Amino acid sequence: MTDSLENCRRTHYSKQVKPDMKEEEVILMGWIHEMRDLGGIIFVLLRDRDGVTQITAPSKKVSTELFEDLRKLKKESVIIVRGKVQESGKAPGGVEVIPEELKLLSESKLPLPLDTTEKTRAEIDTRLDSRFIDLRKHSVSAIFKIKSRMLHSVRNFLESQDYTEINTPKIGASATEGGTELFPITYFEREAFLGQSPQLYKQMMMASGFDSVYEIAPIFRAEEHDTLRHLNEVTSIDVETAFTDHIDAMDLLERLVVDAVTQVKKYCQDELDTIGFDLQIPKTPFPRIEYDEMVDMVNSVGVHMEHGEDMPRAAEKAMGEIMDGYYFITGWPTSIKPFYVMPDPENPLKSCAFDLMFQDLEISSGAMRVHDHDLLVEKIKKQGLNPDSFNRYLAAFEYGMPPHAGWGVGAERFTMTLTGLKNIRETVLFPRDRRRLTP
Ligand code: ATP
Ligand code: MG
Repeated sequence: MTDSLENCRRTHYSKQVKPDMKEEEVILMGWIHEMRDLGGIIFVLLRDRDGVTQITAPSKKVSTELFEDLRKLKKESVIIVRGKVQESGKAPGGVEVIPEELKLLSESKLPLPLDTTEKTRAEIDTRLDSRFIDLRKHSVSAIFKIKSRMLHSVRNFLESQDYTEINTPKIGASATEGGTELFPITYFEREAFLGQSPQLYKQMMMASGFDSVYEIAPIFRAEEHDTLRHLNEVTSIDVETAFTDHIDAMDLLERLVVDAVTQVKKYCQDELDTIGFDLQIPKTPFPRIEYDEMVDMVNSVGVHMEHGEDMPRAAEKAMGEIMDGYYFITGWPTSIKPFYVMPDPENPLKSCAFDLMFQDLEISSGAMRVHDHDLLVEKIKKQGLNPDSFNRYLAAFEYGMPPHAGWGVGAERFTMTLTGLKNIRETVLFPRDRRRLTP
């Protein structure tokens, strides 16, 4: 193998090699997707970021040395090929490259822990154990290009609405909501916890004069769930807005969702085709269903649920059968929502909280918040928590706190709706769940 490709650069990605580039010289870099040695002719499929190019080497057209080098190549090794483009009726994309030079950059061990062709799909655990190889499949990498585009459009959208991106700590002394679902860690000589939500920090930012903030960051939930929609580390898209209420917060969320879906459809059509998902732009306004109405709806299809109770899984499933796409559930009972949620002034048993659902999946929870210090203290006590452990948070409510509202969207659950995937683990590069801590 020659060394003249030593300091060269890629001229094209596979996707950019077109039949009308006849006789043009290209330098391609990538992995050996498949090899076929027919004796007098060798076919190598070179795979890169988002395409595959056929390298066709007839023994009569290439040097003996190059032909022998090609013959020795192993699947999934990394190579550079310099060659000339030719039109070809049979090759993928109607084009092939006749090689003139080859450089082996990294040889792959065989057998592979996972097949990289699209023909088979291993069990999710086998795939996650060898995630770097699993991601070589375009149908898997496409999921993360879609997630990336979604996060990009979320940022663009919020920036266009004058939101400021913030970063709050992920290590803290106590719980956000006083829940037990926290991961304790050792912080020098003290115990600390991983953050389950930026809730208290984004509310303190409302007392700081920023008006509109957002954060896209991990949240940690020590829930023992082992379901297709729960992870223990999630990327949360969190928003908080001052001088506003839950109605405005729902409108903002609805616009953000529609914008992200539209952008994904516009910029990721190839990826959507690769995973075979027909993404629909949702119609607006999203239906808004009162909690009490929802309870009656699920009961009417035979799912028992009491008024006042949190939504059992069976109720989510029943709603998923009745509703198509996104919808809000509003007017949740105050007693089942966290202390920082504002009670409805007309009926304090109800709250200004909402959930955004997609079929049977909760995508987001949000609410108008309590901004009155004394009411907040009272609500903290009512939930059996000690206001003293919230004193730094509560101080922000004593020196001028505007009314405010906000929500949090799980980026992975949102990605499930953009890809049609049913297992949340598929939407995280390296998921953390009840059983998995590596890779
Ligand atoms: P669920 O009832 O489905 O367990 P939750 O009500 O506990 O969710 P919230 O505390 O309301 O979740 O968090 C806001 C959003 O963050 C959720 O709507 C969801 O999109 C996401 N989220 C929260 N916990 C998880 C988790 N364990 N795994 C995946 N996403 C989560
Ligand atoms: Mg929720």
